[in-house]
Amino acid sequence: MYFWKRVFDFLLPRYCKVCGRRLDTSETNLCVSCYLSMPFLDYQSGNFSPAERILLTERNVVRAASVIQYEKESNYRRILFHLKYWNHPEVGTWLAGIGAERLAAKGFFEGIDSMVTLPLSAHKFRKRGYNQCDYIAQGISRVTGLPLINGAVERDVEHQRQAGLGRYQRWGNAEGLFSVPHPELLEGRHILLIDDVMTTGATLCSLIDVINDSVRNIKISVFTLAIVV
Ligand SMILES: [Zn+2]
Repeated sequence: MYFWKRVFDFLLPRYCKVCGRRLDTSETNLCVSCYLSMPFLDYQSGNFSPAERILLTERNVVRAASVIQYEKESNYRRILFHLKYWNHPEVGTWLAGIGAERLAAKGFFEGIDSMVTLPLSAHKFRKRGYNQCDYIAQGISRVTGLPLINGAVERDVEHQRQAGLGRYQRWGNAEGLFSVPHPELLEGRHILLIDDVMTTGATLCSLIDVINDSVRNIKISVFTLAIVV
């Protein structure tokens, strides 16, 4: 097995998704050095980012956690580029699995009974070919066994690109983005809402507000792969 892995690595070299260095046969996705320096968040530290604090206080979310945090210019943002734009969504499954193991050890998933991914608009889904959040959900499910509920929430309109807009414009822009065509799928549940990266939290807040307005007797927790500080 190891022999064939070495042969494949020779023919099709793999590279670290953070620093770009060529990977050894024993390494997956990241080189050892980048993995050891990964900016993991410790859930129990209670060291919430401003965006997470908004979710936990203003939105009455039960729990919120991110796997890693990074600054805007950090090379670790490349993990998200691979996940969303460079057609390597499997890196999301891998990192979500690692994050889920760390969080499961802290009791983060207690009481949560299902997962809902932040939906893409139909246009963006066609263009990208996949929803990166579904790959994150796969990684969580491997650890927790939680099922994914599809089709309960939808993204309505292709809104203006959010990049380049100021913080307050983004808040306004995120409104009216989502709808809940099948609230009955969520009624009485404690769902884990899954997104890839949180910056201001505006998009997540918009979805949480719509779900709270449309579904009776619902509890919401939030899992994101990364948070930008
Ligand atoms: Zn590296």
